Amino acid sequence: MANEVGLKVGDNVDGWCGKCKMVLAHTIEAMVGTKPARVNCNTCGSQHSHKPNPPGDSPRTSKTATGEKAPPKGRANRYQVLLKGKDTALAKSYSIRDSYAAGDVLQHPTFGLGIATTVKDGAKVEVLFENGPKVLVHGRDSLT
Ligand SMILES: [Zn+2]
Repeated sequence: MANEVGLKVGDNVDGWCGKCKMVLAHTIEAMVGTKPARVNCNTCGSQHSHKPNPPGDSPRTSKTATGEKAPPKGRANRYQVLLKGKDTALAKSYSIRDSYAAGDVLQHPTFGLGIATTVKDGAKVEVLFENGPKVLVHGRDSLT
């Protein structure tokens, strides 16, 4: 059985043959990167583009397989969305003595630019930074 990692032209690869209507061994005719692009059916001899799975059998076609490599960006996107429309020039320098409200943009010396998302209580505020949310202390008027 051919190693999936080290495929090259001339190797055999299992793929869907539209003529035979079966997953059969094919000989690789052309490669794109590390993936077979054109194959030759060993059974009927027809040449066609490589399809690893039968059509309609699985949503995991070769097109969606490339999309899986995208890193999870949900948190970063939320950060970007929250920051969008905010005037970052007005970001306050974070100070334990200031009080923040949800939606405030602030500049933290360690974490960078952040947006206050939730005021926990009078003394704590959750701020979303590029690397994730942090709970900061705020509103401490009298430091001891
Ligand atoms: Zn065939």
